[in-house]
Parts: sequence; structure tokens; C-alpha cells
Amino acid sequence: MSSPADQGSEPVGHLTGKCACGKVSFEVNQPLIGAAYCYCKRCQRRTGTGVSVTGLTQPGSFTITEGVESVHGYEPGDGGFDKYFCEECGGHLYTSHPENPDILAIRMGALDQDPGIRPLAHQFTDYAAPWFPVPDDDLPKFPERLDWSQVL
Ligand SMILES: [Zn+2]
Ligand SMILES: [Zn+2]
Repeated sequence: MSSPADQGSEPVGHLTGKCACGKVSFEVNQPLIGAAYCYCKRCQRRTGTGVSVTGLTQPGSFTITEGVESVHGYEPGDGGFDKYFCEECGGHLYTSHPENPDILAIRMGALDQDPGIRPLAHQFTDYAAPWFPVPDDDLPKFPERLDWSQVL
């Protein structure tokens, strides 16, 4: 069991974030729905490390507030979510469904604040790097993509 201090406080209703160089800023004006750890190989290559944490936004709550001209999108082309990052510094910002841009998740590390929620699950655990094993915690573990309906 996690201690209450690990659960975050209340979900925060207004969040801001930015890329590493600061050219691109965004805001989220409703609390995040949930968050998850991802161990997929795509996230490993995208981030250069073993795990990525992404937070699902409520539809319509995300806005780029500065530097939209520096946002570059990468489409994996296999039905995977589109990846958006700052073309100046390479800092990852968000990802969205290729056919429904309202399904959008921000990269938690880009946030300026504690969003007040904690990741609910681990996904793509079958692909975890041997040098970054999935922790032995109480969260549900999905060998492939998680099903949000099972964790929310
Ligand atoms: Zn940047
Ligand atoms: Zn991933």
C-alpha cells in the first residue's frame, strides 16, 4: 500500500507546462483524468530513457499558449498516437489520437506543477528495458496497451 502522501492532493484544475527551451508553453484548464507509466520501445527511443509518464486530459481542455510554430508532430503511421514536441529543443509535450485529436495526453514531465494525481497503471510492461525494470508495486500492469476503462 502507498502512504497517503504518495497519492497527491486534489487533482489540480489549471495546469501549465513547457518544453526544455521554453519556446513552447501550454495550459490545461481542467483536471487530468488519469496518468500511466509507459515502457514501450517507442517511448524509450523518444525519450532516451526507460519509462515515460503521460497524463490523459479532458476533451478540449488543452491549449498551446505560446510557440505553436515550434511544435512539430511525428506520426508513427501505424495507428499509434501522434507525438508532438518542440523542434528547437526536442522536448516532448503531448500525444494525440491520429483520428480524434480530442483524445490527448500530456507528457507529465513537461508540467510546471504537481497535477495532484498519480499514475494508475504500468503499460507495455513486456517491453521494459532490462536496465529499467517495472517496479514491484500495487498498480495494475498491462503487457500491452492499457485499457483506461479498467483503471479509472
Ligand atoms: Zn523547446
Ligand atoms: Zn510508450
